[in-house]
Amino acid sequence: MRLTVQAGIVRLTRRKKEILDREYSNLQKLLKGDRDAPLYSANKQQALRYYKKVKLKEYPLSLRNDLINLRRAKAFWFLKIPVYGVRGGIKVPVKPHREFPENAKLCESKIVKRKERYTAMLTFEFPAQPMRECSSILAVDLGERFAATAVLWQNGSVMKTQFYGKEIRGVRRHYAWLRRRLQERGLIQVVKRVGGKERRVVNAILHRVSKGIVSLALAANSYIVLGDLKGIRKRVNGRGKRLNRIVSSMPYYRLTKMIEYKAMLVGIPVITTSEAYTSITCHVCGCEGKRKTQGLFICAHCGEYSADLNGAINIAKKFERWMGYMPIHGAEREPALNQPKLEAPSVRVG
Ligand SMILES: [Zn+2]
Repeated sequence: MRLTVQAGIVRLTRRKKEILDREYSNLQKLLKGDRDAPLYSANKQQALRYYKKVKLKEYPLSLRNDLINLRRAKAFWFLKIPVYGVRGGIKVPVKPHREFPENAKLCESKIVKRKERYTAMLTFEFPAQPMRECSSILAVDLGERFAATAVLWQNGSVMKTQFYGKEIRGVRRHYAWLRRRLQERGLIQVVKRVGGKERRVVNAILHRVSKGIVSLALAANSYIVLGDLKGIRKRVNGRGKRLNRIVSSMPYYRLTKMIEYKAMLVGIPVITTSEAYTSITCHVCGCEGKRKTQGLFICAHCGEYSADLNGAINIAKKFERWMGYMPIHGAEREPALNQPKLEAPSVRVG
């Protein structure tokens, strides 16, 4: 499995900048047909191999894995880049956008240039992690009010509940409003920039949410069980155009991928279960209930409780039944969530 980490090349001395500029611009010349442009031989081979059939406005410098290397010296990471005319290449400080993974092998990587700045796209390969044998379930319901509601389920009862990502909906509404305003004024360029900003803000939240979920699962040694995305779409069908639009564009897919990825790095199995009925079934008596607005679920026999928690518990139970062998020592009927009355859930992210 592979991961690419972006790392800005920083604090370039004038000499190193010139050398890198030369290597980069000769690469462009080569790929635009100047076969004699002086380029480090392996960089040339890589270029001809990868870009023969691709037309790009600018080509990134592609580096062979055995010729680059990444070393830490005090506070900085240094990347060695092979270049034409400099024996041993040049060593440049890099600042990664996220931590470099441990115990991973550096693979072929790229260097791109944007607005006079260079960024290294370093690709790492991990050995496959052995999957853990878990002793509990962390059921995660992806939803509208909270991006994710997690229930830690063990021995037939809820050990812990956690709500994540409440702020996403607000962020998305804010940017939707902002885009409309900008469009009205014909500021199309600004609209584009704002879209990029929104994506970064939401991504940062999703990273915190997925990290929180995976570390909770790791601490409790749990399987992570996710409701699948088809279920969510079905759930909101026919519940108003506006809501439908918000939900269908919620970044569930990105969140699911982040959880799967982070879990895989630590050997936690992630299982996706069909969400069919988990949102309309009462988790206590198993009857069909109704999901009201404001995140409330109503069962004719048991009363009202948080729809998000109800969904998550149903996901946990469903997986437990499916697993069969999970030890269940709890009572047959766990206390309903509305006894004692459920407080408004506190929101914590991270
Ligand atoms: Zn009920």
